[in-house]
Amino acid sequence: MKFETTALHGGQKIDSDTRSRAIPLYRTASYLFKDCEHAANLFSLKEPGNIYTRISNPTQAVLEDRVALLEGGAASLALASGTSAIFYSIINICCAGDEVVAANNLYGGTYSQFDSILPQIGIGVKLVDPKDPENFRAAINDKTRVLFCETLGNPGLTMTDIEAVATIAAEHALPLIVDSTFTPPSLLRPIEYGADVVIHSLTKWMGGHGTVVGGIVTDAGKFDWTDSKFTLFNEPDESYHGLRYAHDLGEMSAIAFALRMRLVPLRNLGACLSPDNCWSFLQGLETLSLRMERHSENGMAVAKFLAEHEAVDWVNYPGLTKNENHVTAKKYLRKGFGGMVVFGIKGGFSKGKRFIESLNLISHLANVGDAKSLAIHPASTTHSQLSKAQLLSSGIPSSLIRLSIGIEHIDDILADLTQALEKN
Ligand SMILES: *Cc1c(COP(=O)(O)O)cnc(C)c1O
Repeated sequence: MKFETTALHGGQKIDSDTRSRAIPLYRTASYLFKDCEHAANLFSLKEPGNIYTRISNPTQAVLEDRVALLEGGAASLALASGTSAIFYSIINICCAGDEVVAANNLYGGTYSQFDSILPQIGIGVKLVDPKDPENFRAAINDKTRVLFCETLGNPGLTMTDIEAVATIAAEHALPLIVDSTFTPPSLLRPIEYGADVVIHSLTKWMGGHGTVVGGIVTDAGKFDWTDSKFTLFNEPDESYHGLRYAHDLGEMSAIAFALRMRLVPLRNLGACLSPDNCWSFLQGLETLSLRMERHSENGMAVAKFLAEHEAVDWVNYPGLTKNENHVTAKKYLRKGFGGMVVFGIKGGFSKGKRFIESLNLISHLANVGDAKSLAIHPASTTHSQLSKAQLLSSGIPSSLIRLSIGIEHIDDILADLTQALEKN
């Protein structure tokens, strides 16, 4: 099936009892065992099946299977948020004493997680400028266990050369985790460029309507975890029947990463996604490719409009041919450059503030990827925990205004921007 068809049908097996066309919402916490042997088999992984919704749920399974298909991966795991998806991915690989090499232009929450929480539990983090992929190589040492980057960084919109970073990771037998939230799979599938794990905040474009919070991790299913430096995959797990995830999973060994994340971090730390939210995300996914086409079309129109406007100082949109990211972005984003547009107004942030407060149609709030157009000033909000130096190194000047352009009619979006710019 093609992408658009998979988004509507992938992962669903019609329920033989009800013949329900829509995906049934299994709002249940647990599942009846057939008998004691069945119960024991489920607990020992001898038989697949559901035990308790913290670990798995049939509605969630459709979401996971569908996203795995859309990403071109082997298995996915849905979690309560993009933030928990990132945290669980790291602690599914790293122990105290291990290190992560990560891009320095990360989403604000991820930056804080890496900069302060991972070190608190003994996991070191080296932050590097992803503009030159060689910076990742230079930061790798014998403690490094994983590389981490975003596709399009937020809000600087720097496009990382995923293939180059993946090549460096592979040369060092390290996995590469890519947060692809800003480039949903109808625009970019990082696994095709060598990523081993792909993360999305489903909250953004995948869900697409600003209604639910969730995250998902997709395992490409091709990383070899048998190197003994990956302790968690090679030592027997006493909390799970002495299982060695890199060796004892038989035909499921290809999805060792996703399976371990379900059986250990999810099962014992518990950031599960509710069945209702899984269902909402499935609804959103049905229109993902259509929405991304419109987001991209409107994003491009807004970028061109702002670039020509006399009140505007600068515009950053990877689709503009003069943009410094354009060449790299064009390599990866063949179906559109998405809906994120960032710019600065002449006169700096005091004028920017007036602009934001003058918007009528475009909503001033902290989110991206809604079907509705959104605006925010990152330096005083989403990224305010960063120091001046960190802001600069993350490519966030204080004048920067971030727009997440929605799927409204372009005339209405441009009219709102025009009147707000004229207020200055
Ligand atoms: C929003 C976002 C996250 C965090 O996801 P939540 O669902 O809000 O926890 C992580 N990375 C990126 C790039 C994001 O935009």
